[in-house]
Amino acid sequence: MNDEVLNTVIIGSGPAGLTAAIYAARAEIKPVLIAGLNPGGQLMQTTEVENFPGFPEGILGPDLMANMTKQAERFGTKIMQENVESVDFSAKPFKIKTDKAEYLTKTVILAMGAEANWLNLPNEQRLRGKGVSACATCDGFFFKNKEVVVAGGGDAAMEEAIFLTKYASKVTMLNRTEEFRASKIMLSRAQANPKIEFITNVQIVDVLGDAVISGVRLKDSVTGEERDFVCGGMFVAIGHSPSTKFLNGQIELDQKGYAIVKNNTESSVEGVFIAGDVADHRYRQAITAAGAGTMAALDVEKYLAHHI
Ligand SMILES: Cc1cc2nc3c(=O)[nH]c(=O)nc-3n(C[C@H](O)[C@H](O)[C@H](O)COP(=O)(O)OP(=O)(O)OC[C@H]3O[C@@H](n4cnc5c(N)ncnc54)[C@H](O)[C@@H]3O)c2cc1C
Repeated sequence: MNDEVLNTVIIGSGPAGLTAAIYAARAEIKPVLIAGLNPGGQLMQTTEVENFPGFPEGILGPDLMANMTKQAERFGTKIMQENVESVDFSAKPFKIKTDKAEYLTKTVILAMGAEANWLNLPNEQRLRGKGVSACATCDGFFFKNKEVVVAGGGDAAMEEAIFLTKYASKVTMLNRTEEFRASKIMLSRAQANPKIEFITNVQIVDVLGDAVISGVRLKDSVTGEERDFVCGGMFVAIGHSPSTKFLNGQIELDQKGYAIVKNNTESSVEGVFIAGDVADHRYRQAITAAGAGTMAALDVEKYLAHHI
């Protein structure tokens, strides 16, 4: 292990981590950023991003992330292509162990994001971005006048379905059981929407289509019978999993594993800050993640000025 004690280590190279890096580097904190197994984060998996301000014609997700990376490097961020395996926040300086090295640091910004949960169907990942999505806010616009299905029966699924009715001609909610997990109020809102239909007691067993989605294969949960259902899109709304497992209980997490934030950026450990989707199950947008990265870097700067 190198004995040098760094000012800050940023874990994650999505919009939250890279924006934190831009601010921290410009503040001459000399941040080290550990990119993880998915350099650039979730936007690397998409094509057009049409809602990130400053790009009136839209920008491809990978191009946006390449720009953010360049901007962070321009001001001196050191980006390590490594993955964090464990951390020790029990004493200062904090220790961070990756698959290749160990770091000592005065502060940490956790920006590991979250991943959508998928149904794990044979053709689901192949058709991702080709009609299969897990983000209505991001992709709903591309489904104008199409008939789409939503997989899931909780509040988030109801919200996604209601949002999608702005664009889609019809939204069919597919639920494995007779009862929906959603709260009564969310369920009645969805039921009152004339564009939403419900099919219960069905399991989606595959997504159909060659270049783009053409439908889904359904299996009746009661009879076991299978049939194909034609649609122009499938939204999976069965929750997200934040990437917090390696923290091993060293900061407070909520029941679903999201980091708990107080005062905008602080974790339960002094000197460990949080930014982006790793703590956000509500907004989950690139711009909000970038904004959170900004706040975390500014708070790190203030913390270093007062604590060292
Ligand atoms: C298909 C798709 C389309 C989207 N479209 C839009 C859109 O149009 N507009 C919009 O605003 N938002 C969109 N989003 C949402 C947006 O991508 C996220 O809100 C945003 O990327 C969250 O940023 P983040 O930095 O918090 O996390 P992420 O982007 O999830 O980045 C997390 C980073 O943490 C790293 N990491 C994780 N674990 C470790 C570890 N152990 N060690 C080191 N690093 C680690 C990963 O490698 C990754 O670099 C879309 C998401 C998806 C999936």
